Amino acid sequence: MEDVPYFITVQEALEIVKRTPISLHQEEVELDRCHGRTLAIDLVSRVDDPPFDNSSMDGFACKYNPQATYPLTLPIQGIVAAAPEGEERVLENNKAYRIMTGAPLPKGADSILQIEKCTLDNNLNTVTFLEAPKPHFVRKQGENLKKESVALVKGAKLTPSRVGLCATMGYPTVPVFKPLRIAIVSTGDELKQPGNELQRGEIYESNSYGLSGLVHWMGHEPHRYEAVNDTMDALRETLTRASGECDMILTSGGVSMGEYDFVRKIMEEEGELHFWRMKIRPGSPPLFGLWNETPLFGLPGNPVSSHVVFRMLVAPYLRHCFHTSEPAELRLKAILRDRVKSTQDCVTLRRVQLHFSDQGVEAYQPRHQGSGNLESLASADGLTLLQPGQSGEIGQSIDVLVL
Ligand code: AMP
Ligand code: MG
Repeated sequence: MEDVPYFITVQEALEIVKRTPISLHQEEVELDRCHGRTLAIDLVSRVDDPPFDNSSMDGFACKYNPQATYPLTLPIQGIVAAAPEGEERVLENNKAYRIMTGAPLPKGADSILQIEKCTLDNNLNTVTFLEAPKPHFVRKQGENLKKESVALVKGAKLTPSRVGLCATMGYPTVPVFKPLRIAIVSTGDELKQPGNELQRGEIYESNSYGLSGLVHWMGHEPHRYEAVNDTMDALRETLTRASGECDMILTSGGVSMGEYDFVRKIMEEEGELHFWRMKIRPGSPPLFGLWNETPLFGLPGNPVSSHVVFRMLVAPYLRHCFHTSEPAELRLKAILRDRVKSTQDCVTLRRVQLHFSDQGVEAYQPRHQGSGNLESLASADGLTLLQPGQSGEIGQSIDVLVL
């Protein structure tokens, strides 16, 4: 135990955990099913976007004549729709083509006037341009994206617009990372599943559900195990099963200084412990190490603490492993409107509600800040990022992590 880093900064903890790689696997997924997934390669476009010059307006296409005066009447040569063209149309001199949005521009045309600014004769033989046609109504081939250029980079989270972009670039399927199977093991003799009557001394087990939501939020697959009693044998059995079935393990509880804190004990005695305790409040007890070669984060039992440590330690680790900055860690500046208790040696993450006013963003702390008070987290918009020694006085401009 002497050599294991103890009570280190969040930065030091991150450096340690990032040294443990996790094997990534790819799969090819149809666009219908790839929303929210993480792209495993840089994706180059298979086509120009747009693939051909086309009209951004319903109107008339012609060749721009700098000498012309308006109104100007021209014979209508034909009509071109947004449809496969067959043979390319060629515009004759001093004529106009009726053109629809998205239709290929006839060869020789370079400008378009929208239909609202045109009048037609009764027989539809001629069109009168009430003003000059505009070159910017032509969408040029490749103006959005050139063939072979990279439009989405490895690690990009596939949002709805990005899924659409994959199709625009010509991909029916895309290579994405397989989500990790993440085991969630809560520990504690006092834990009861919701739905059963509580006896005195028992509480409902909530951490595994909260952590499962966080794992989903990160785009991975949570596997909740039945809560483990506080014995070395029960813990050993579940951790071994979890390490066989999953890529990573999250435990909750049993990492503090208590007599029955067996996660710490078993990792010290039978696992490979890389660090224990971190300078963060709430949430100072976490540990990280390997159980049967499987990365294991020992998160604190207090519900607010386990959530905070996931956001500050587990989420950055997963982003790092998957070469992604997503889901984004949003931070903003806010003015403190309540006094917030800080600490000398820890980063302090108090739960605050945010209000937008003429002064900017204002942070209020309306609830008591016990690390067992999950309601205070559920009603918060952000966590203060007070640095060690930063006072937390009213009126201070502080950094806030958006929840
Ligand atoms: P521990 O870290 O095991 O000492 O737990 C710290 C506090 O968190 C205790 O009050 C536990 O009852 C509570 N706790 C531990 N695990 C859970 C859980 N899975 N769900 C809700 N509360 C928990
Ligand atoms: Mg416990």
